Amino acid sequence: MKVICIGRNYRGHAKELNNPVPDRPIFFMKPQSALLMNNRPFFYPDFSRNIHYELELVIRICRPGKYIPLEHGGSFFDQVALGLDLTARDLQQQCKEKGLPWEIAKCFDGSAPLSPFVATEKTDTRNLAFYLLKNGEKVQESTSKEMIFDFNALISYVSQFMTLKIGDLIFTGTPAGVGPVQIGDHLEGYLNEEKLLHLQIR
Ligand code: ZN
Repeated sequence: MKVICIGRNYRGHAKELNNPVPDRPIFFMKPQSALLMNNRPFFYPDFSRNIHYELELVIRICRPGKYIPLEHGGSFFDQVALGLDLTARDLQQQCKEKGLPWEIAKCFDGSAPLSPFVATEKTDTRNLAFYLLKNGEKVQESTSKEMIFDFNALISYVSQFMTLKIGDLIFTGTPAGVGPVQIGDHLEGYLNEEKLLHLQIR
C-alpha cells in the first residue's frame, strides 16, 4: 500500500507558508513505515528542532483504479480518518531552498499518525467538519468543503499518474493553523465532533 499526501489544498494554509494557490493538486508520498496507529506516542527525533503538526482528512481507497474520471472518484473510497502529516519544517525549508526532495522532512518514522477509520456510507463527505486541539486549545479547524480540490478531484488526478489500489491512503491536505509541537504536548483530533485521534509527543 502507499500513502499519498496532498500539499496546499486549503487557501489559508498555502497563504500562511507563502506558497501560491495551485491550479492542480500537488502530491508527494510517505512510506508505510511513517504510519503511527492505535494512538501510540510520537518520539521527537534528534534531526529536527521544528516538527509541525498538520491535521488532515484521510480517505482509504476501496477499489483499484487508473485514469478514474472525476465524476466516478466518489466510488473509489468508502472510509475516512484523521491523520497528522508531521513535518520537520526546518529540514523542509532547507530542501525547498536547495530545490531538493522533501523526504527527510516528511517521511520519517511516525510522521503519519492515523486514527481509526469511519465508514463514509451515511455521511456527507463534502461537509466533514474536523478540528485539532493542542493541549486542549483549538489550533486548526475546517471542513472538507473548504478544500481547493475535493476528494473526487484528488482521486481522479492521482490516478492519472499511478494506479490506486485497495488500502492506499490519501492525506488530503491541511487547513491553516499549523504549528510546532514540543515534548510533552498532546494533540487530539475530532471529526464531526467525535474524538478519533490522540497523540502524545514524547
Ligand atoms: Zn500536509
